[in-house]
Amino acid sequence: MSSIFWFRKDLRLQDNEALSAAVRAASQSSDNTVYCVYGFNSATFEKLEGIRQHSLSVAVKELSNTLDGKLTLLAANTHQELAENLVKACSETGSLEVYAMQSFDPEGVAQQLAVAKALEANGLGLRLVGSAYAVLPGVVRKPDGLNYRVYTPFYKAWNQLAQVTPIELPELGTAWGSLKDQSVRIEPSKPSPIKVRAGEGFALRTFSRFRERALDDYDEKRNRADLGGTSHLSHALAHGEIHPRTLLSVLGDSNAHEVFRKEIAWREFYADVLHHYPHTVNDYYEPRFKSLRYDSGAHAQQKFESWCKGETGYPMVDAGMRQLLAEGWMHNRVRMIVASFLVKDLHLEWTWGAAHFEAHLSDFDPASNSHGWQWTAGCGTDASPYYRIFNPILQGLKFDPNGDYVRKYIPELRHLTDSSAHEPWEVFDGYANGYPSQIVDHNTERNESLARLEEIKTK
Ligand SMILES: Cc1cc2nc3c(=O)[nH]c(=O)nc-3n(C[C@H](O)[C@H](O)[C@H](O)COP(=O)(O)OP(=O)(O)OC[C@H]3O[C@@H](n4cnc5c(N)ncnc54)[C@H](O)[C@@H]3O)c2cc1C
Repeated sequence: MSSIFWFRKDLRLQDNEALSAAVRAASQSSDNTVYCVYGFNSATFEKLEGIRQHSLSVAVKELSNTLDGKLTLLAANTHQELAENLVKACSETGSLEVYAMQSFDPEGVAQQLAVAKALEANGLGLRLVGSAYAVLPGVVRKPDGLNYRVYTPFYKAWNQLAQVTPIELPELGTAWGSLKDQSVRIEPSKPSPIKVRAGEGFALRTFSRFRERALDDYDEKRNRADLGGTSHLSHALAHGEIHPRTLLSVLGDSNAHEVFRKEIAWREFYADVLHHYPHTVNDYYEPRFKSLRYDSGAHAQQKFESWCKGETGYPMVDAGMRQLLAEGWMHNRVRMIVASFLVKDLHLEWTWGAAHFEAHLSDFDPASNSHGWQWTAGCGTDASPYYRIFNPILQGLKFDPNGDYVRKYIPELRHLTDSSAHEPWEVFDGYANGYPSQIVDHNTERNESLARLEEIKTK
């Protein structure tokens, strides 16, 4: 029997455990064909910002190219519609099984349950093989069998279990097949601020460049927003254009390599946490923070808009928010700074910021986004304590010491040639080019935040 391979957030051929399983299964059949499909939700796609539409469409088109165009898009506006289309694909190709990677986020889980149910009702099967992680979420457990809620011990246990050997696609003379109906297309309807580069080949080249140029200094440079010290692989990991096994397989024992391994593990930790607490995809991990006093109403909305546009008057915050709009990506350190500012200086709920990130981040990942936000807001797992409030000016001076990052994204500050780009209020001509003044005073809002925290402590 031929098999169907359903691509999900694993848009690659190499180091793809589920695809390798489908190829092996097909090789047992007389026609040795794997029919490749991708479930496309055009309704959701239409709502995405341009950068996300383009990054998904380039990733899918690149995958299709590597399959010699033999990738069929199936309409998947609801889980049921996708399930029915997979059943039809099986009957058209005479396949009895659909192979796919297992998802662990709430949306992916609901999708695979609906698909499994529909296939089963038709005497067909869904084979879920592997995941987007080096260890399946749910597998790393404490000696007492419970899941970890703190990162460091999770990391130690995870490191013992992590798969670090890439899985090669078996060469068994398999042919890629496509279905008759090729009418579903993925075409962005909105412009993208940048020309998106994506796909498995691009991901592998990005990783190669990172290994040659930055991996060995990763521990020293990864926090510097002005240096290209990180891998920029988050888009590729989010879309599955590369698997963490491929990354882990080249790491040695140096401190730089160990720090990089630990960052990969943060992604896995958050996926594990979301697997155990699926409601935390958009709800509080630490429920008492729900009752913290947040701002609302027209003034809150105004502050939020200034934050979204990068017009708060705090250069490091504004540079980050403008980088997000310009590139669909933001440096990790700056993500923490802007998130802290939203919650602790503007007193807005983290969910507002998480939704804005979801709309604009080309590397959007439900687990890393929700828990990255909750960590910074103080309501997540082993969260940064709520009273630790980032000073956006000192953070800027520390992680962009010459002001290069800020100047790159804020044209109004380009005339300030040194670190004074972080403190335009200290310079005679700091506001000469129309940079906005601060919408709030950091020290005042810091005290306000601490006072609000006291209120929930005493409740
Ligand atoms: C508020 C907030 C929201 C975030 N939202 C997302 C998101 O939607 N998608 C996303 O992929 N990451 C998110 N992150 C994590 C992190 O900022 C990005 O993964 C990182 O900036 C991507 O750049 P890079 O690939 O160059 O990272 P590198 O430093 O090269 O790290 C390599 C990989 O490790 C993983 N990683 C690194 N740091 C983290 C981290 N703190 N948490 C989880 N995984 C990590 C990523 O997959 C990353 O690609 C968020 C962080 C914060 C503070």
